[in-house]
Amino acid sequence: MSDPLDAPVLSELPLGDLVACHECDLLMHKPKLAHGEKALCPRCGYELYAHRYNVVHRSLALVIAALLLYVPANFLPIMQLNLLGQSSQDTVWSGVVGLFNTGMQGVAVIVFLCSMGIPLLKLLCQLTVLLSIHFDVGRSYGLLLYRIYHHLRDWGMLEVYLMGVLVAIVKLADMAAMTIGLGLACFVALLLVQVWLEVVMSPHQVWQALSGEDAHAGD
Ligand SMILES: [Zn+2]
Repeated sequence: MSDPLDAPVLSELPLGDLVACHECDLLMHKPKLAHGEKALCPRCGYELYAHRYNVVHRSLALVIAALLLYVPANFLPIMQLNLLGQSSQDTVWSGVVGLFNTGMQGVAVIVFLCSMGIPLLKLLCQLTVLLSIHFDVGRSYGLLLYRIYHHLRDWGMLEVYLMGVLVAIVKLADMAAMTIGLGLACFVALLLVQVWLEVVMSPHQVWQALSGEDAHAGD
């Protein structure tokens, strides 16, 4: 039996050079990638990570675009309904207030968090993380905020909200005269920018840049 004192201590292992497959847990050496290349797991084919070009600047542009779209998406009318001579304009925010005022406070809070609160927090976390990498300040706060962002990801449900809006539009289309508002266009644009941001902001490169392993994440 080998002496346990001879076993390598965990901190002595080259953990920074290893990567585990998210899907099948295969442990392997981290391949060095050039811009635009992807590393795939040799066992199951899962994309381990991609090395994207100019991650920080492109992501910053997308985060700012998303923040600019956030205000009209939530406060401009999603749709205008004309029923029996009465017309009403509905925004995401007025929906939350309407639920709150009709006694459904619990539902109003959940709708507010999933459609407005958490998506905004996510964007602010991403903005702060990217600024901390760009200006090389507060990396420890950047690491904390990026961890928080990964927890928040599961709770921002803009796509579920959009599905709800689309179902309501289809159901109401026969009952009332309806006009789609600018808010809906901004909402869809916000969703698309966020999906694009998820693709561009390669987590592997952001973690490396935050931990100071890669000084060229902004290239
Ligand atoms: Zn795998």
